[in-house]
Amino acid sequence: MFGSMMDRPLLVSSLLEHAERQFGATEIVSRETGGALFRYTYRAAASRARRLAKALTRLGVAHGGRVATLAWNNHRHLEAYFAVSGSGAVLHTCNPRLHPEQLAYILNHAEDEVLMFDATFLPLVEAGAGHCPALRHFVLLGGPEDMPKESRVPGLICYEDLLAASDDDFAWPEFDERTASTLCYTSGTTGNPKGVLYSHRSTVLHSFALSVPDTLSLSAHDCVLPVVPMFHVNAWGIPYAAAMNGCKLVLPGPKLDGASLFQLMEDERVTCSAGVPTIWLSLAQYMEQHGLVPTTMKRTVVGGSAMPQAQIHTWTQRFGVEVRHAWGMTETSPLGTQGCLLPKHGAATIDEQCAQRAKQGRAVYGVEMRVVDADGNERPRDGKSAGELEVRGPWIAGAYFKGEAPALRNGWFPTGDIATIDADGYMQITDRVKDVIKSGGEWISSIDLENAAAGHPAVLMAAVIGARHPKWDERPVMFVVKKPGQDVDKAGIVAYLADKVAKWWLPDEVIFLDTLPLGATGKVQKVDLRREYANVLDCVA
Ligand code: AMP
Repeated sequence: MFGSMMDRPLLVSSLLEHAERQFGATEIVSRETGGALFRYTYRAAASRARRLAKALTRLGVAHGGRVATLAWNNHRHLEAYFAVSGSGAVLHTCNPRLHPEQLAYILNHAEDEVLMFDATFLPLVEAGAGHCPALRHFVLLGGPEDMPKESRVPGLICYEDLLAASDDDFAWPEFDERTASTLCYTSGTTGNPKGVLYSHRSTVLHSFALSVPDTLSLSAHDCVLPVVPMFHVNAWGIPYAAAMNGCKLVLPGPKLDGASLFQLMEDERVTCSAGVPTIWLSLAQYMEQHGLVPTTMKRTVVGGSAMPQAQIHTWTQRFGVEVRHAWGMTETSPLGTQGCLLPKHGAATIDEQCAQRAKQGRAVYGVEMRVVDADGNERPRDGKSAGELEVRGPWIAGAYFKGEAPALRNGWFPTGDIATIDADGYMQITDRVKDVIKSGGEWISSIDLENAAAGHPAVLMAAVIGARHPKWDERPVMFVVKKPGQDVDKAGIVAYLADKVAKWWLPDEVIFLDTLPLGATGKVQKVDLRREYANVLDCVA
């Protein structure tokens, strides 16, 4: 027997409609590509999104058609988020930091018909337009004053002209909630990027999960600033969840340096944020150098790679900002876990609490999680037994776009992460499958080593890879970027690590670099380090 409740579809457009009706006067603040701040309201954003949806329909974008964006976090990108998906087309957010060849690959693979882009990316579009035959329309996200005098982009359309020629007399269509809403490609460090096609249903359910108290705890009293780009897994779903909860939304545009972010957060009274650890590292450095502390920021979600415990400590103790470690992937929309503490941690010391927060956290409702051995058998939830992390749930990819490389194993999505889960459900990532260091048949966790090294007062960033070793197969090699004005040598690092990790985990080599190679989403590119340094221990007898 079925329940007798209405079967109303969960659609992305309903989020904006809700914001327009319930929080119409709430502000959205956006840093323009040129640097100026633009302000309007959810009511105005909804009206412009309807204009855009109507204009796209006139351009011939049909239900299921793909519209790509190459844009920063700004208000026009936000309008595209709702207009494209809301009208039944699919929004494909492209990462401009991808290699131009990979960018052309994903535009072609997605069969994008329209490309909407910020002026910053005009040279990139001019160079690539000819390689993407399916692209019919190019729209520059700006006003007439932003348009180039001459351009090699065929038939370049001005966004504001497009909107001016349209009107907002447009009703969001209703369709099946399983309809595709958005398309994101994995960063493709090995092989070509693969497409993950989110649905309206998965996006709306994910927004609920993001909003609850133990995740981002969003409400109309919040002012949210997503530092995470809108081209990185939909800014982790924040634009949708902000509309659902009527949060004031602050979009930082291209200015992501410490000084700009701090100023914007203070001026707009931002209460919560989200981004990768490298962003928080540079903001913390800026605040430390200038003796500043944030006055309105209460919490931030950190994910994409592990935030070391020492950094969590700085944010908690020095800046009074609660760090909520989250784990996720493009394939998981991305929210999988959140790292809030449990009541029993209330009595723990700050150090113990920070150690707990350095784990990747517990599965949110809607995500099931387990670790399995090489034969697919579930490993005990004892915080010690490591294995590959598998997940399943209504916002986890069931397949890749166009059926490429089957995604599932026995109905679960194999994440490629090695993890443990403890009795309270806290998951801790020790490595990516491809990054784990196999020394004499035993595993060494590069993340644990990096985490430990990051606590050294002279260390800004650390990364560890397995280098080939004639006797042990692989041994850890550590790369360290020193804090400005600080000094430490290999012996100092090894001595510091000696009481923090097992003796046989200590790195065989410590190499000091000026910077670490960062990928398109701010993660350390261990592939690049391996390419250059995999044989660095070859001369060891
Ligand atoms: P992407 O799909 O590019 O966002 O990458 C997803 C991968 O990032 C995951 O499979 C993890 O390896 C890594 N990752 C995401 N969040 C965390 C985290 N909080 N700690 C450690 N690694 C993370």
